Amino acid sequence: ARPVIAIVGRPNVGKSTIFNRIIGDRLAIVEDKPGVTRDRIYGTGEWNGRSFSVIDTGGIEIDGEDELLRLVRIQAELAIEEADVIVFMVDAKAGITNADEEVTRMLFRSGKPVVVAVNKVDNLQRMDDIYEFYGLGFGDPVAISGAHGTGIGDLLDAAVFKL
Ligand code: GDP
Ligand code: MG
Repeated sequence: ARPVIAIVGRPNVGKSTIFNRIIGDRLAIVEDKPGVTRDRIYGTGEWNGRSFSVIDTGGIEIDGEDELLRLVRIQAELAIEEADVIVFMVDAKAGITNADEEVTRMLFRSGKPVVVAVNKVDNLQRMDDIYEFYGLGFGDPVAISGAHGTGIGDLLDAAVFKL
């Protein structure tokens, strides 16, 4: 079976945007169970001659801080269960939030390899925004922009290296 890369992070950081850029048209399975928070979308990707599965976690609507924390916990658990490498996506504009810290604790305990992807770095002026994410403790964050498609090669270099 192919190795698995899972994309986790709180809603709106850009997970699905990046997932779509990575898989192109190689969408594999959509599990759509209404009312169930364990939803996942699977696709396949290829980079530097390596082929892998990609999981996009969480496409549901949530309401309020409690729900948000519950959701990110479930997503992180899923990723930890299924992934060989986890792409932990955060938002350069928002900085580190409580939900990000919750995910960080869970990923740390799991011991799985993690690459931090700092999305929404849409221009070079924003490069300064990535430094605070070194504080998450997963090594060098990778700056990306789902809007422009920049940095995704660097992200895949880092993720595939850890497979
Ligand atoms: P998800 O909830 O984590 O799957 O996030 P989505 O992929 O649905 O994106 C959430 C919102 O952020 C959408 O409005 C996207 O168009 C926007 N978005 C995604 N990537 C970028 C980016 O690189 N820059 C900016 N400015 N917006 C982005
Ligand atoms: Mg999404």
